[in-house]
Amino acid sequence: MARVTEADVRGALARVRLPGGRGDPVGRGMVSGIAVDGGAVRFAIEIDPAERDAMEATRRACEDAVRALPGVASATGALTAEAPAPRRAGLERVGAVVAVASGKGGVGKSTVAVNLALALAALGRRAGLLDADIYGPSQPRLLGLSGKPSSPDGKTIEPARGHGIPCMSMGFLVDEETPMIWRGPMVQSALGQMLDDVLWGALDVLVVDMPPGTGDAQLTLAQRTPLAGAIVVSTPQDLALLDARKGLAMFRKVDVPVLGIVENMSLYVCPECGAEAPLFGHGGARAAAARAGAPFLGEIPLHLAIRETSDDGRPIVASAPASPQAQAFLAVAARALEELERGAGKPAPRIVTT
Ligand code: ADP
Repeated sequence: MARVTEADVRGALARVRLPGGRGDPVGRGMVSGIAVDGGAVRFAIEIDPAERDAMEATRRACEDAVRALPGVASATGALTAEAPAPRRAGLERVGAVVAVASGKGGVGKSTVAVNLALALAALGRRAGLLDADIYGPSQPRLLGLSGKPSSPDGKTIEPARGHGIPCMSMGFLVDEETPMIWRGPMVQSALGQMLDDVLWGALDVLVVDMPPGTGDAQLTLAQRTPLAGAIVVSTPQDLALLDARKGLAMFRKVDVPVLGIVENMSLYVCPECGAEAPLFGHGGARAAAARAGAPFLGEIPLHLAIRETSDDGRPIVASAPASPQAQAFLAVAARALEELERGAGKPAPRIVTT
């Protein structure tokens, strides 16, 4: 009978795919302690302790792959996790901060931001959500959060979690009843806290739900937040598109690469019969993106299910991931990741006005 070697085991494990397109466990340096004892093979897979449940399927896939090798009678894989590094507040271990913005309110920016963060998580990225919408912080409601963030040591803040992703919101720090005149300075310090004092941990992408509009408050925020890129949400109406162009211009002014434009409330899809109608026109954002030299990230249909799930604190990407509406968000997230990974550090293209 063929004698199995450590290299055979390694080869078999390298053919296992990690969830979310993250490659294979050997390539990622996660495999250790391979022991071959006759036909019995043992090995360890090092994981992030937070991913223990998600990696169970990978562990079994690894065992199956090794067991399929000629000469292997039994294969045992164990998940191991190093003692977690002491948690530090701030953005040190956040790969990219991405703003979701809009030229005006009511275009579905917050809806896109939350579903985008959940879609990034579904694509295997560690995602978080920072709700910086000072005028209407809605993420706690959209994510169905009831608890508030806690501060175990009185200095750092443990973010709230909804549908598996960490979330901090201006709504937690600034009372809705606070008069507008006090809000400016409070919002500045609240933003500082959300960037510096929150235990975000290791994240691939932190999505920031920006306040709508392109005024001074938005500009300051865009400047103070270390943004890797920005996504501008627009409805197909011309007016919104004009505002969207202002949004693009704002980010370019502060040298933040625009990852692209999302057209929200694009086609109306009747929830009863599935018939489609372009209530607000259609395709305008794609054309505006082309004119402005910004990538077009995709269209989100206007659909009752999107509003209803948002109102219930169960965003559609989390509650009905196979639905066409959730798939639209997943496609936008995948395009945004492409732009983020491709364009990292590249200067924004020049604006072409018509
Ligand atoms: P903004 O953050 O731009 O002010 P919201 O995300 O709060 O906008 O959305 C405004 C309203 O429109 C909400 O009631 C939301 O549920 C609804 N909405 C947003 N996008 C869609 C969509 N694609 N289909 C149906 N309703 C939507």
